[in-house]
Amino acid sequence: MATTGRLVSRLAMVTGGGSGIGRAVCRRLASEGASVVVADVCEASANETLRSLPGDLRGQAHMAAAADVASKESVDNLLTSIQARYFQPPSVCVNAAGVTQDNFLLDMEDDDFDRVVRVNLKVGPPPDAVPSPASDSSSSSSSSSLQGSFLVIRAVARALVASGAPKGSIVTVGSIVGKVGNMGQVNYAASKAGVEGLTRTAAKELSRFGIRCNCVLPGFISTPMTDKVTEKVIGKMKSLIPLGRMGEATEVADVCAFLASDDARYVTGASLEVTGGLFMG
Ligand code: NAD
Repeated sequence: MATTGRLVSRLAMVTGGGSGIGRAVCRRLASEGASVVVADVCEASANETLRSLPGDLRGQAHMAAAADVASKESVDNLLTSIQARYFQPPSVCVNAAGVTQDNFLLDMEDDDFDRVVRVNLKVGPPPDAVPSPASDSSSSSSSSSLQGSFLVIRAVARALVASGAPKGSIVTVGSIVGKVGNMGQVNYAASKAGVEGLTRTAAKELSRFGIRCNCVLPGFISTPMTDKVTEKVIGKMKSLIPLGRMGEATEVADVCAFLASDDARYVTGASLEVTGGLFMG
């Protein structure tokens, strides 16, 4: 997708901006002319992304911030620091922070589920559509933040409404797993399904303020998290993807940029799949 300057003069905030999809989104939005706030629980990663952003000749357009989307205090502080610096709330917000912690339903203890939900609904780094225990990916980990998304969406929406800004666009990175489920990811799938319900409801409530809310549902995307998946599992996943390959973080970012821009001015409450056709229909 060519850059078109669609976001010139817009202020954008990206959670999970320190890695993978969030980092690609930061770069894409900056290349479209936006000033970008890179927010991540890992400050060093956020700063690394910041240094890689285009369009900041004087080093003042963008900023990096340490922020934990699972913490109301942290999210509120983030919005306060943004408004202190830019004298406005972000009119574009992309929620890309997410984490996972996989296990089979039959093996999952209450504490494990609670912990995962607590983390998933509050924090976040990563992969999904990624095979887990069943498909011999040794690991565990990843799920996203329902609570985190709630805290961020509410904080941004409140700030936008209070400022009287004429429009806003909030994009949340869900997952195709929220629609179709995935072995070993009962907690993750539930949180991602929740993110869609949250987004659609926010879209209904916030449209009268000119704020659009949409989801992007990635499939199997190459990021630092999925880099850990074995070749065998990657091969298995690829065989299920009609386009025959994993997606790139930039390809998810392209869709986020579209939803953020006025090109999507009549799109709200939508979930756009970026899966290479995985699980279509
Ligand atoms: P990633 O691990 O590369 O990046 C996630 C980022 O979120 C990290 O920089 C991490 O530090 C940050 N983060 C984690 N917890 C946080 C918190 N509490 N507050 C703020 N930041 C936090 O992962 P990714 O693959 O780029 O995933 C990004 C989003 O895309 C996630 O929501 C993930 O669930 C979703 N997703 C990924 C895939 C995939 O295949 N990679 C597929 C579908 C959906």
